[in-house]
Amino acid sequence: MPKVLCYLESKDSELSSSSEQVLKFALENFTAANVIAVIYGSNLSNSNNSITKLGPSKLYQVDKAEFEVFKSDQVSASLIDLINKDSIDLILASNSVDAEALFGIVAAKTGSNIATDCIGADGSNMTLTRSMYSNKLISQIKLDSSKKSFITFRPNSLRANASSPANTEIINLDAAVNSKITIDSVKKADSKEIPLTEAAIIVSGGRAMANSENFKILRDFAGKIGAAVGASRAAVDSGYAPHSMQVGQTGKVVSPNLYIACGISGAIQHFAGMGSSKVIVAINKDPEAPIFKKADYGIVADLFEIVPALTAKVDLVLK
Ligand SMILES: Cc1cc2nc3c(=O)[nH]c(=O)nc-3n(C[C@H](O)[C@H](O)[C@H](O)COP(=O)(O)OP(=O)(O)OC[C@H]3O[C@@H](n4cnc5c(N)ncnc54)[C@H](O)[C@@H]3O)c2cc1C
Repeated sequence: MPKVLCYLESKDSELSSSSEQVLKFALENFTAANVIAVIYGSNLSNSNNSITKLGPSKLYQVDKAEFEVFKSDQVSASLIDLINKDSIDLILASNSVDAEALFGIVAAKTGSNIATDCIGADGSNMTLTRSMYSNKLISQIKLDSSKKSFITFRPNSLRANASSPANTEIINLDAAVNSKITIDSVKKADSKEIPLTEAAIIVSGGRAMANSENFKILRDFAGKIGAAVGASRAAVDSGYAPHSMQVGQTGKVVSPNLYIACGISGAIQHFAGMGSSKVIVAINKDPEAPIFKKADYGIVADLFEIVPALTAKVDLVLK
């Protein structure tokens, strides 16, 4: 049985839900005694509680103010030491910007395999599924098992229920704080907003939104159903929404359970970012819009009528 290390991330002092999915996946598919977790950051007590409840055999932590903001050189040096010391075979993480950068560095330095942004894995057999060419091709890959493997999973792509947690030994990891990277300032996102890549439901608006004020219609609806709000590139390029909200080839890649596209035509570059959503609902007033070919459910209607009507309906149901 391979020894598995889950690289976990904390957001606003809480374990990120996509990191939790990765740990649950490891515990469901590998012997708990062989599953180890590692986390870097500051103020990790809440995150650590969530991790120990799931029960990996060990949790290595670096809980220092100097690690509050991710710096690839600090973490990569420490991670390489840990992987060698504990003879780790598989290193798993959720596909965040930081994890992708880190795994690239560490895999190159240790001569290991790497597969990023996987959307599935066949249990402990680790046949991995990846989406390629803007979701036109779903590939299955098998990594050379004689080498260590670094694997990241797209958030929301894993479905796992870890059970029977074991006792977790928490170990403070010794990690040097010196770094060649200097961070001048950090601009935090509004913590009330659900991060797009973690969201289970996304409501997105396209060029049809016509201005930034109209996005309030989507925010009101999203607020009622616990969704994050996204946008097409046309909406972003027109200045209706910030680039942080863009979904697609040159924006964020998301995989929610439910994606509601409002006034979005369904260009291939948009599909590249949301095509692996479990259920796609399209609202478009043009019955010929290409998005209807890709959607599971389509509503041919004016979004300015249908979205407020849906919000009112949800209000009624929740009362
Ligand atoms: C290299 C490259 C990278 C790109 N990257 C991205 C990317 O990351 N993300 C992305 O989204 N795009 C990307 N694009 C752009 C992409 O090709 C499309 O131009 C873009 O997705 C179109 O956005 P849209 O669907 O909002 O706008 P449009 O194509 O203009 O569609 C608007 C839709 O709204 C409908 N509509 C209008 N009014 C209403 C109404 N009142 N109610 C309901 N429906 C209405 C219309 O029928 C139409 O279907 C990229 C393009 C290139 C070349």
